[in-house]
Amino acid sequence: MLTRNALIYLSRQEGLKDFAARFRLFKRLTVRFVAGETIDEAVNYIRELNAEGCSASFDHLNESVANPTEAEGEVKEYREILRRIDETGINSNISIKLTQFGLELDPELAYRNARAVVEDAARRGNFVRVDMEASNVTQKTIDIFKRLRAEFELNDVGIVLQSYLRRTYADAQELIKLPARIRICKGAYNEPPEVAFPNKKDVDENYVRVMQLLLSSGTYHGIATHDPRMIEATIAFAQKQGIGKEAFEFQMLYGVRRDLQRQLSKDGYNMRVYVPYGKHWYPYFMRRLAERPANIWFVLKNMLKG
Ligand SMILES: Cc1cc2nc3c(=O)[nH]c(=O)nc-3n(C[C@H](O)[C@H](O)[C@H](O)COP(=O)(O)OP(=O)(O)OC[C@H]3O[C@@H](n4cnc5c(N)ncnc54)[C@H](O)[C@@H]3O)c2cc1C
Repeated sequence: MLTRNALIYLSRQEGLKDFAARFRLFKRLTVRFVAGETIDEAVNYIRELNAEGCSASFDHLNESVANPTEAEGEVKEYREILRRIDETGINSNISIKLTQFGLELDPELAYRNARAVVEDAARRGNFVRVDMEASNVTQKTIDIFKRLRAEFELNDVGIVLQSYLRRTYADAQELIKLPARIRICKGAYNEPPEVAFPNKKDVDENYVRVMQLLLSSGTYHGIATHDPRMIEATIAFAQKQGIGKEAFEFQMLYGVRRDLQRQLSKDGYNMRVYVPYGKHWYPYFMRRLAERPANIWFVLKNMLKG
C-alpha cells in the first residue's frame, strides 16, 4: 500500500512529467505500457490487435495541461487521430481526458474542446470515451459529459466510472437513465477513505454490483478489468441472465494480460484494448506501476538488458 501511494504521489509531480518526456533513456522503460511516441506506432500496433480480433481505443498521453494553447494542441492531435483511423480503416475509437483539454484551467474551455472532438468523431461515425480522473474532477467530468450527451447520440460519446468511489453506484443508476454508454473500471488514483473504499474487497464487490446494473440496462457498456474474478463474474452473470456476448465488451490496457485479451477474443467476446502513445507518458506509466509494484522489476530488467 505504501509503495502504491508513493508511486501515485510521484505520478502527480508535474516537474517529473516534463523531465521524463525529455529524458531519452526512459523510453526504454516505457515499452511495457506505451505503444510508442507517434500516431504511426500506435496505428501499427492496432493493426496487430485487429488481426487478432480485438478492437482498440486510441489514447494520446497528456493530462493536466498548463495553458489553453497546450489544450488546443490536444484537440488538433485527436482530430488527426480520427483522420488516421478513417484513412487506415483500423477498428478503433478514442479515449480523452478532460484535464487534457483544460478542465483545471476552465471547465468551459474543456467543454468546448471536448465538444469539437466529439463533433468530429460523430461526423465520422466514431465514438469518444471520456476517461475518469481523480475525484476532485469527478462531478465536473460528469457535468460536461451530460452536456455532450444531450447534444450528441448514445453511440457518439460515453463515460467512465470507478468502482472504488462510494458515489459510483448512484452515478451509474442516474447515467443509465439517459441512457449512456459506461466503462466501469476499479479506479487508478489515490483517494481518501471519505470518497473511496479503502479495502480491495469493497472495491471488487462494488465493481460486481455496478457491472450487473450495467449489463441489465440493455445498453452496450465496457467492462474494463484484468482481474480474472471480475471477468468470471461478468461471464457468469451474462450467461445466467441470457445476455449475449455481443451486448457488451471487455476492455484491457495495452501490455497487460495479452494472453487473456487473446483468449477472450477467441472465446467470442468483444475485446477492446486501450492503446496509449505520446511523449507525456510519465503519470500514466507511474499509475501502471502502482497497480502492480512487481512491474518495477520487469521494467528495471528491461532497462538493464537494453
Ligand atoms: C480499458 C481500461 C481503461 C481504464 N480507464 C480508466 C479511467 O478512465 N480511470 C481510471 O481511474 N482508471 C482507468 N483504468 C485503470 C483501472 O481503474 C485499474 O487501475 C486497472 O485496470 C487495474 O485494475 P484491475 O481491474 O485490472 O484489477 P486489479 O485487482 O488491480 O488487478 C487484477 C490483476 O490484473 C493484473 N494487473 C492489473 N493491473 C496490472 C498492471 N498495471 N500490470 C500488470 N498486471 C496488472 C494483475 O494480474 C492483477 O493481479 C482503466 C483500465 C482499463 C483496463
